[in-house]
Amino acid sequence: MTETIIGMGSNLDHPEEQVITACRELSRIPETILVQMSSLYSSVPVGPQDQPNFVNSVALLRTELNPEQLLDALQDIENRHRRVRLRHWGPRTLDLDILFFGSAVIDTERLQIPHPEFRNRVFTVIPLLEILPDFRIPPENTPLQDIVGSLPSRDLEALHILRKNS
Ligand code: ATP
Ligand code: CA
Ligand code: CA
Repeated sequence: MTETIIGMGSNLDHPEEQVITACRELSRIPETILVQMSSLYSSVPVGPQDQPNFVNSVALLRTELNPEQLLDALQDIENRHRRVRLRHWGPRTLDLDILFFGSAVIDTERLQIPHPEFRNRVFTVIPLLEILPDFRIPPENTPLQDIVGSLPSRDLEALHILRKNS
């Protein structure tokens, strides 16, 4: 089994429910176990600012699937949420990104792991810190706690918990 971290985001059509439902669907992916989910956070959009704030969360899964099979499963879930791609970084009902897949480093046309923007985004770093405070970022093994100080302070100030995961 490989431990993998999934980032979830939504800013359309009842975003909190989109993310909660997505999490339930993650738990139903074949050969995969949902181990933990973070609280739901509210974040300001990256890219175009003329769109609603996002609801974000991260989930820890254990899976027997390979990364491509996992991406297929995530894209099936996105499609069930009627995700349509209107513009790059525009509003969406559901976005599911593979942030990490064990310590794998993958750089193909279809998959980049670790997710190249992970370190720059408060809505991925802070929820992961909540569920795995001792996480080390592969492949260098940098402690997650060490990169919090370099996150954009404007984004950090805007991030807040919407629904605590207790
Ligand atoms: P960003 O990657 O900056 O968060 P995005 O999530 O809005 O942008 P999408 O339009 O959802 O980008 O995805 C475009 C493509 O990214 C997908 O079709 C997929 O093949 C590819 N992709 C590459 N690496 C990953 C990854 N780690 N997780 C999910 N998709 C990925
Ligand atoms: Ca994304
Ligand atoms: Ca995506």
